[in-house]
Amino acid sequence: MVSSSLPRLEAPSPAYICPYDQACSYLEEAAKELKLNQGFVEVLSHPRKVVTVSIPVKRDNGEVQVLAGHRVQHCDVLGPYKGGIRYHPAVTLREVSALAMLMTWKCALVGIPYGGAKGGIALDPKFYSVGELERITRRYTSELIKDIGPSIDIPAPDMGTSAREMAWMMDTYSVNVGHAVPGVVTGKPISVGGSRGREMATGRGTMFIVREALADKGESLVGARVAIQGFGNVGSAAALLLHEAGAKVIAVSTGSGGVFSEAGLDIPALKVYAANNRRSVVGFGQAIPISNAELLSLPCDVLIPAALENQITEDNVNQVQARIVAEAANGPVTLAANQALEARGVTVLPDILANAGGVVVSYLEWVQGLSYVFWDEERVNKELESLMVQAYRQVIQQSKIRQIPLRLAAYTLGVGRVAQALGDRGLYP
Ligand code: GLU
Repeated sequence: MVSSSLPRLEAPSPAYICPYDQACSYLEEAAKELKLNQGFVEVLSHPRKVVTVSIPVKRDNGEVQVLAGHRVQHCDVLGPYKGGIRYHPAVTLREVSALAMLMTWKCALVGIPYGGAKGGIALDPKFYSVGELERITRRYTSELIKDIGPSIDIPAPDMGTSAREMAWMMDTYSVNVGHAVPGVVTGKPISVGGSRGREMATGRGTMFIVREALADKGESLVGARVAIQGFGNVGSAAALLLHEAGAKVIAVSTGSGGVFSEAGLDIPALKVYAANNRRSVVGFGQAIPISNAELLSLPCDVLIPAALENQITEDNVNQVQARIVAEAANGPVTLAANQALEARGVTVLPDILANAGGVVVSYLEWVQGLSYVFWDEERVNKELESLMVQAYRQVIQQSKIRQIPLRLAAYTLGVGRVAQALGDRGLYP
């Protein structure tokens, strides 16, 4: 089994779905479709570098706690490693490794010159003060100092991190090397070289992909009924942009529960409410409370899982009534559930396409930083739209030519481009 070379740091429960095994299955499926040489599959099934560091942190009460921080660099044949840093209690080395592999295919699919990476620390940011989070982020960065850099590996925000953490990472790296290095991270604050439009980019990208998928069915965003699981950076941006485009966002949920309104939720008001209620939407007026499970089974045109992986599984897939599922999260639909949805004719817009907007604008941020020329938001959004629509069209075309579902089509494009580069570069020595 290719994935068995990664240590199992967590004790799997019987229902445990290993994210790394799932990622390898998608790779193997794409490789089979492409008739790839087994040697390539072997190379691409293993991350090139796996780093785990200990992060001792002094808590505000004086106690010392030691956290484990990971950074996995999957494959750099197309360019420097790129990928987010996740702060979440469910982070494991296997999850980070799977997400690093997804980043490789995602970057190749949207045509940006990066390899995939991902990092993470298993912690719940809710239980740490700002000062503690800063100390954790700085120590993690300093432990990784030789593994990251503007032409080596460029971290970005992911679940549980934001521009604030990127500023701390950029500062720590810069102080250690002795001069300011804005290009070491993306998703930074504008004040230190961040790009306009980066914060909303993943949600905006999802909106473009959903718009194109509806257009292909002869429909428009106006009046489309949308349910969104997750109201963090990605879910809330997608909700707002879809609402502004005329869609009816009928339900939204967070980890603590959700809200539903047949007439469509007032998303700008919900954003303000969540910001004042520790990011929860529960209790929002003029809406009916619903559970996360209920949200996933609502009759709607578009369901957007924008939270964690493995949300739509064999157990609940039969309850999903949406005609389109747009994966704004990474891996929210399991392998088996994906097959069930595809068999029922549900359009599944795969994660490596539907949530690629974030890394696309990260790339635009990096390009602006390297050229010292900064663009207005309109230009950034236009470039994002053009790269997203182009990738969407290529996936549709690939799906038609090969008569395969969209996910496999997206993977064959991503994996195929990486394999082509791997073959052209050859093996050293
Ligand atoms: N964390 C985001 C993702 O999973 C963005 C990564 C980046 O911008 O490098 O795609």
